[in-house]
Amino acid sequence: MKRHLAALLMMTAGLGLVGADAAPNDVDSHIAAAQKAAGTDFAGTMSRLCIQPANGADAEASARNARGAAPRPRVIPPRAEWYAEPAQVFDNLYWVGTKVHSAWAIKTSAGLIIVDTLYNYAVEPEIVDGLKKLNLDPASIKYVIITHGHGDHDEGAKLLQDRYGAKVVMGAPDWDLVAKATTMAGGIPKKDISVAADQKLTLGDETVSIITTPGHTPGTLSVIFPVKDHGKTLTVAYNGGTAFNFPREPARFDIYINSQKKFQKAVAAAGATILMTNHSEFDQAYVRGRFARKPGEDSPFVIGAAKVQNYFTVASECAEALKLKIKGS
Ligand SMILES: [Zn+2]
Repeated sequence: MKRHLAALLMMTAGLGLVGADAAPNDVDSHIAAAQKAAGTDFAGTMSRLCIQPANGADAEASARNARGAAPRPRVIPPRAEWYAEPAQVFDNLYWVGTKVHSAWAIKTSAGLIIVDTLYNYAVEPEIVDGLKKLNLDPASIKYVIITHGHGDHDEGAKLLQDRYGAKVVMGAPDWDLVAKATTMAGGIPKKDISVAADQKLTLGDETVSIITTPGHTPGTLSVIFPVKDHGKTLTVAYNGGTAFNFPREPARFDIYINSQKKFQKAVAAAGATILMTNHSEFDQAYVRGRFARKPGEDSPFVIGAAKVQNYFTVASECAEALKLKIKGS
């Protein structure tokens, strides 16, 4: 009996199947685990997190501005490069982003909740005019959730706050980041709601669960919310910060990894079958929002609970790989 057990242990060790607690902890194993989880669904995320950074410095990191943020657009790109028509994605969810960055409008019985606000140059044509094109009233925006304080997501906030009286919601540490900015295209919004711990935000018939997921920035927020698809309730997991354009320190990667695992668990408990982020390269929102959908067919945004889980495995495994690389260099 004992001999058999020993032989079995030797066999499994030889195959690398040594159980979850003793999973191989080297760069290649983590990249392989990420690749397996990514499949063809998250090729963009895999490329950005596991391939590009492993080959050297993240291009964005060197172009960081004084806020320690993603690069500000020094020159506004030509409109043809970024402008996108808005799209209704579900009964009560609308995409008002650019070809690169996403912004979303959740329609509730008591007004709109906007998630992320794009660069300053895009807020008027995409969010304000986009809502009007979709027969939604920008004056009914009650809350603006900023998933993190980088210019590609927060520059439009002040316009929505000043013009429509929308309350801006952001993670407490990112409010501090914004407060330190000397200049910010679009202006610095005043602090309305500062999120320091997981909380719920209810407006009319909609409740958004806000989960703190520090890592990409210290105050990154991720959200889980229900949507209706032809009357059927579905759950969206929205990851608030993805790329590794932050100080390359092992401790920061641990914070990032813990957050990905925390949100992955919350998303599993909520039964989310839709994964969204604020960049199209990670969730293909721009393309998915343009798919023609045949009657009876699922929305292209619905990928199923297992694939949604896979997304967070890609993020955390790529972070593990890069952390080890940094430690070893
Ligand atoms: Zn960012």
